[in-house]
Amino acid sequence: MDCIFCEIASKDAEAEVIFENENFVAFLDINPVNYGHTLVVPKKHFDNFLTIPTDDLSELTKITQYLAGAVKRALKADGFNIISNNGNSAGQSVFHFHYHIIPRYENDFHMRPRTIEYKQSEIELYRDKIKESVSKYEGLLNG
Ligand code: 5GP
Ligand code: ZN
Repeated sequence: MDCIFCEIASKDAEAEVIFENENFVAFLDINPVNYGHTLVVPKKHFDNFLTIPTDDLSELTKITQYLAGAVKRALKADGFNIISNNGNSAGQSVFHFHYHIIPRYENDFHMRPRTIEYKQSEIELYRDKIKESVSKYEGLLNG
């Protein structure tokens, strides 16, 4: 399979690595939103947030929390975004699951998506549609 993050994980492609252990690697994004924009990647290939097993996701999240603190302190950032794009429509361009850590500074925030409004009947409709889907799959959550 042609996957740039698999290639970086196996060292067949180069990257500016800031952290690595047996199962995960973190490196600088080549097209950063801000300097120090970091990607945290499982070495095993999973397409997205829905297909990564929960144990791997927990470990990835734990490492991302640790690295976000390190990035923030190192760059004296005021804050940071943790982002995961899932699917083409959401802006995913590398279909190997990863978290972005984006250091942020006061007044540099240009990423707030446009928002829309609900009528009361619409917000209830969307609540019901999603609740129905949640209860259908609740069994999966409880094992
Ligand atoms: P996505 O759009 O899938 O959420 O994020 C993929 C990210 O990977 C993008 O921000 C893009 O700049 C970065 N990227 C794509 N190819 C490479 C690469 O070869 N090396 C590095 N370091 N980053 C890459
Ligand atoms: Zn991959």
